[in-house]
Amino acid sequence: MVNNGHTIMFTPTDGGYITVAGKQYNLLQFHFHTPSEHTVDGATHRMEGHLVSKSADGEYAVVGVFYDSGSANNAVETVFSAAVETENKEVTVSTQVDANELLPDSMAHLRYSGSLTTPPCSKGLVWSVLETPTTASEAQIKKIEDLYGGNARPTQNLNGRTIFHMN
Ligand SMILES: [Zn+2]
Repeated sequence: MVNNGHTIMFTPTDGGYITVAGKQYNLLQFHFHTPSEHTVDGATHRMEGHLVSKSADGEYAVVGVFYDSGSANNAVETVFSAAVETENKEVTVSTQVDANELLPDSMAHLRYSGSLTTPPCSKGLVWSVLETPTTASEAQIKKIEDLYGGNARPTQNLNGRTIFHMN
């Protein structure tokens, strides 16, 4: 786990994988933004987690998860309970983190491609944004808010990209 000055990032030794369109992407790291970077029908959420995975041929798939203020999130608590205030200091988290605890029950999501069509940026980046928010406690969300004072990029125009609704 590291507070890299922009976000709190957790890098698992073995984080499992997701399968997107038949391709396996292994979890590299996950990190958090406040407020959410994605909006759905204009709605912003308090926090967004990004689970970044990479395929054997070097393409990326990122799962976005929305968090609203509510019940504390176990996995978030484990990550944040490490000393997060010191920047660029890598901390080993010995407690096992269940990445599934970061996710809501419903896997319905919005899928779009963030890849650029012009060379040399031809590597794919597939986004899957889970539509159902889950919760983190107010204190957990405030930790990211207080550390970075808002570390979300402004929303970008779609620029012709198509968003698919996946169940
Ligand atoms: Zn991110």
